[in-house]
Amino acid sequence: MRIAVIDYDKCNPDKCGHFLCERVCPVNRMGGEAIIIDEENYRPVIQEASCTGCGICVHKCPFNAITIVNLPEQLDEDCVHRYGINGFVLYRLPVVKEGMVVGILGPNGTGKTTAVKILSGQLLPNLCGDNDSWDNVIKAFRGNELQTYFERLKNGEIRPVVKPQYVDLIPKAVKGKVRDLLRKADESGRFDEVVKELELENVLDRDIRHLSGGELQRVAIAAALLRNAEFYFFDEPSSYLDIRQRLRIAKIIRKLAESGKNVLAVEHDLAILDYMSDIIHVVYGKPGAYGIFSQPKSTRNGINEFLRGYLRDENVRFRPYEINFSKKSERKSQEGEILVEYPSLVKDYGSFRLEAEGGELYIGEVVGIVGPNGIGKTTFVKMLAGVEKPTEGEIDWSLTVSYKPQYIKTDYDGTVYELLSKIDASKLMSSFYKSELLNPLGIPELYDKNVNDLSGGELQRVAIVACLLRDADLYLLDEPSAHLDVEQRLAVSKAIRSLMAKNEKTALIVEHDVMMVDYLSDRLIVFEGQPGKFGRASKPMGMREGMNRFLASVGITFRRDPDTGRPRANKEGSVKDREQKERGEYYYT
Ligand code: ADP
Ligand code: ADP
Ligand code: SF4
Ligand code: SF4
Repeated sequence: MRIAVIDYDKCNPDKCGHFLCERVCPVNRMGGEAIIIDEENYRPVIQEASCTGCGICVHKCPFNAITIVNLPEQLDEDCVHRYGINGFVLYRLPVVKEGMVVGILGPNGTGKTTAVKILSGQLLPNLCGDNDSWDNVIKAFRGNELQTYFERLKNGEIRPVVKPQYVDLIPKAVKGKVRDLLRKADESGRFDEVVKELELENVLDRDIRHLSGGELQRVAIAAALLRNAEFYFFDEPSSYLDIRQRLRIAKIIRKLAESGKNVLAVEHDLAILDYMSDIIHVVYGKPGAYGIFSQPKSTRNGINEFLRGYLRDENVRFRPYEINFSKKSERKSQEGEILVEYPSLVKDYGSFRLEAEGGELYIGEVVGIVGPNGIGKTTFVKMLAGVEKPTEGEIDWSLTVSYKPQYIKTDYDGTVYELLSKIDASKLMSSFYKSELLNPLGIPELYDKNVNDLSGGELQRVAIVACLLRDADLYLLDEPSAHLDVEQRLAVSKAIRSLMAKNEKTALIVEHDVMMVDYLSDRLIVFEGQPGKFGRASKPMGMREGMNRFLASVGITFRRDPDTGRPRANKEGSVKDREQKERGEYYYT
């Protein structure tokens, strides 16, 4: 079976020399019709039945708009939805089970949202044909666990609630005070309980426009929890939350399922996905072209198979390489040159006070910054950059700093290429930047897109690249993982490490995804204190000491998965948790 997918956002028949694909297709040249021109919409259409799969059009198209893939014949009967001729194809769906959190793990653009739209009744799947009724869907899923679910959905017995992925967009859609929004959502009469669980007491009288990303995330989760529904879907519930908050919402979502609800969650922080889910589905395929839901798997096996890039039951290799984690705490030694030695610093805003221990930063190193939200991480870096004057302690150098904030605003009117070439056009042409940064982050594919049309994940990648293209002594990136999938997180980590080492620069990275912190950092600065009141920053320390200090402050221990070496959060009070806490070994056991 062959599918041909054309990304019409990329296709530009006038700029490729007028339907280049049609002119080069050997079937067409022999008088056949593998590619026809849809005159009305002014675009090419590939007729899969006539296409031989030679791949010439794929290589010739200057905009990489065409994908041709051969898939196993038996998948055809599992085809759930296709967005029109040459559109994205979704195969299979995740199961939904009462009393369980079903986790979904996979790259962006492989149909996770589409599947959720179907399960929540917002999208009637066309079954890759011209289906126009839920009865046919029920028939198609006869004998499958989803049959009863679809019957109930059709009869209006299932009310879905969705916590959307991009919480940053909420203020555009909803106005007013947090209290009013949550009161309106409160069908279950659990207002006080949910507000307390999500620690929202202090923001109830705030306007939604004035919330931070982490607060918006918790408000969105609270609004979902307050509804009375049967099916709950949480799309990336961890973005913008610190690690303590992440584990807290993971527990709350588990509790919701345990009360007898169907819960589905997409999550890219693997430690959180692991902690939260009863079973998981791996989604694989080619982003933008097709996506396949695996069989349900135990959480541990599913995540391990995902990291290995090989699904055992299905006998499918979906990635040519494995993702591995180093179990070692030692990183490169600090033998390099010192970029800066900074004294103890204090910043007193009146309502908030930060005390930072003095320390040094080396050229070529990546220092992870860990700690809760609102503890003074940004303030600290602004002092190092000379943007904010310390109340005590003196900074008498002028380092140039390039900064990527946690929340990215889009008010740029132009394409991605225009934006990036304004920063440094020569680096966009350099083979070093292409291989170390631009290609691994998939940036060339976005060049012709308008910055205002980018999705949250695309915007994040462009903002990271914009930050790293600037010339500076010190790079500061605040939560670069938000809205990125696992492979993109690793690509970003590798790019940052390689750029710092090769360009002899220094990076400070604020990050809450523990696995990414581990992957990225040579050393750690740990922030402790009481968010919004006072904060204390340690000097940069080695990974073992830093992780122990940080995780002890939040009371979480991790063990290593024996097969893949990935860190897994221990259940609080478990034997391992107690034993590791006694030994003071929270991470590198
Ligand atoms: P994910 O949630 O895994 O990121 P989505 O389900 O949002 O993936 O989208 C998968 C692919 O489906 C997208 O890359 C896009 O190409 C395509 N797609 C999504 N919605 C539509 C639509 N309404 N019309 C056409 N194509 C769509
Ligand atoms: P983090 O980066 O760890 O989330 P920040 O450094 O942004 O923390 O903020 C720490 C605290 O300092 C917060 O309570 C914030 O409201 C407060 N704060 C930040 N900037 C100012 C300022 N210019 N004036 C008064 N308070 C501020
Ligand atoms: Fe041109 Fe590519 Fe579009 Fe074909 S798919 S018309 S080659 S831009
Ligand atoms: Fe034509 Fe080959 Fe492209 Fe198929 S893959 S449409 S046969 S050029």
